[in-house]
Amino acid sequence: MIKRLIFLLAPLAPLAILPAGAAAHDIAIVMHGGAGTIERGDMTPQMEAKYRATMTRALKTGYAELKKGSPSLDACVAAIEVLENSPLFNAGKGAVFTHNGQVELDAAVMRGKDLRAGGVAAVQHVANPIALARLVMEKTPHVLLVGQGATDFAITQGIDLVPQSYFFTQRRWDALQKQLKEDRKKSRPEGIPGTEKNAFGTVGCAALDKGGNLAAGTSTGGLTNKRFGRVGDSPLIGDGVYADNETFAGSGTGVGEFYIRLNLLKDISDLMAYKGWSLEKAANYEVNEKLVKFAGKGTGGMIGLDRNGNIVMPFNTPGMYRGYINTDGKLVIRIYADE
Ligand code: ASP
Repeated sequence: MIKRLIFLLAPLAPLAILPAGAAAHDIAIVMHGGAGTIERGDMTPQMEAKYRATMTRALKTGYAELKKGSPSLDACVAAIEVLENSPLFNAGKGAVFTHNGQVELDAAVMRGKDLRAGGVAAVQHVANPIALARLVMEKTPHVLLVGQGATDFAITQGIDLVPQSYFFTQRRWDALQKQLKEDRKKSRPEGIPGTEKNAFGTVGCAALDKGGNLAAGTSTGGLTNKRFGRVGDSPLIGDGVYADNETFAGSGTGVGEFYIRLNLLKDISDLMAYKGWSLEKAANYEVNEKLVKFAGKGTGGMIGLDRNGNIVMPFNTPGMYRGYINTDGKLVIRIYADE
């Protein structure tokens, strides 16, 4: 009899996490791996294949969470951790160097159903800052912890710290050296951040779960040659990350200072909320008109997702690592403007 009961209940299992009366929603996930000067001529076929494979693995990891009924935030964190653990992206393991040759990481998450958020900035010894950002949201009354305070909090949460050498990659080191040489040539002792090719590579994710809830996350090493202590848009709510069930969830990538000054993601949300614009119209306006007018072309992009599963990925740079699995279960990965 008990066996029969279990058999009868089994098909209902995936819906069990939903509140009574709620219908299961379609699920979707969208990610970026940074916008910048990504051109075919600079990329070997092997390198391109690696980027596409890692983006695919990240998307599938997040999607698997959504499929089993986990909240969208779980999906974002799981997907972003895949990219943080890869040396290819400017987040976690593959982060860029500051002007003084250190790695300083920023990350944040936000949940669309209650606007709760958490972030960390300028952390130097945490391999997965996105997981720490989530803990700030869940375990503290605060939104943003920085530097040593964030590291001390990580220790209290049982997170193993890593030495700075964990983050060393020859490619990022060479990029800094090139930039420093350029600074010396032009007598710029302070340095100008991130103007070399492939300076970007920040990662971000937005997801829609079976409960119809949105979430988003962003993680970055910032800009090559940035001043030590500089914090970009990525850990700042409304600038480099945002999620509101009423509008959209998204993540930005580009020259963070402009995203901060424009409050870029919150602006998209406001255009949707107060002007009734679609996500597509608001995101395109913000990235291809407002950001271009204010900061010029080549300054960045974003990814976003609304509650109906509409996905956007606008950018004004030559390329942006990006991809999604939409509500039809279709997986798409793109790097350049056309493919
Ligand atoms: N937005 C990041 C920052 O300024 C960089 C990036 O997206 O590549 O820190």
